[in-house]
Amino acid sequence: MAARAFLARVRDVVLPPQCLGCRVIVEAPDTLCGTCWAQLRMIGPAVCDACGMPFPFEQDAILCGACIGREPPFARARSAVAYNEGSRDVILAFKHADRPEAATLFARWMAAAAPDLLMDAEIIIPVPLDRRRLFERRYNQAALLAQNLMRLTGIPSRIDDVERIKPSPPRGKRMSPTDRRRNVAGAFRVRTSAKAALRGKNVLVVDDVYTTGATAWAMARCLKRAGVGAVDILTVARVVRD
Ligand SMILES: [Zn+2]
Ligand SMILES: [Zn+2]
Repeated sequence: MAARAFLARVRDVVLPPQCLGCRVIVEAPDTLCGTCWAQLRMIGPAVCDACGMPFPFEQDAILCGACIGREPPFARARSAVAYNEGSRDVILAFKHADRPEAATLFARWMAAAAPDLLMDAEIIIPVPLDRRRLFERRYNQAALLAQNLMRLTGIPSRIDDVERIKPSPPRGKRMSPTDRRRNVAGAFRVRTSAKAALRGKNVLVVDDVYTTGATAWAMARCLKRAGVGAVDILTVARVVRD
């Protein structure tokens, strides 16, 4: 990782910076070009107070139907952009390919999208990868986001407090929401050595995409069982049902 970061710096000095989405030349490093920017849909303030689902139109509702039916174990989940054609490529490149530098930009979006969550957060924890996946990808994209948020806000990020004890499904496997829930239920464990530091704390869990909420639910349950005070969730992108 250190060598990789060094090479990325060398490349930035030698070559003009490229758009993180389409790789056209841009003026500053770690940004998007105007075209890629225009395709993003930032998530506005009219969202479900619990799960962060954007409401389709201005309304007085506080919670969405799903959260009224079943209260999430986390307090608030928020995301910066909608996960759609406009954001998919840049996020997948960050997740699966060698674009760790996108974490700088994404962390700025996240900080702008949820200043209230960051105000309350005492500890930032990324969603962990299982060992095999970490080996394949060489970096945990959620941990990179957590580190960049720490750099922006000064809130400590603890990347080894939670481990993934159940392997994640093969990449690209199509899964129903029920499959996702089953796969991720009981997948996380707070390390015994971390429990004292987390007890009673407000924890902000960080990840790249909020898809069905299954991961957010599983992380929040695991942290609450370990004695954490409150859990909020912050992701770069969120799947939005229209
Ligand atoms: Zn672009
Ligand atoms: Zn909701």
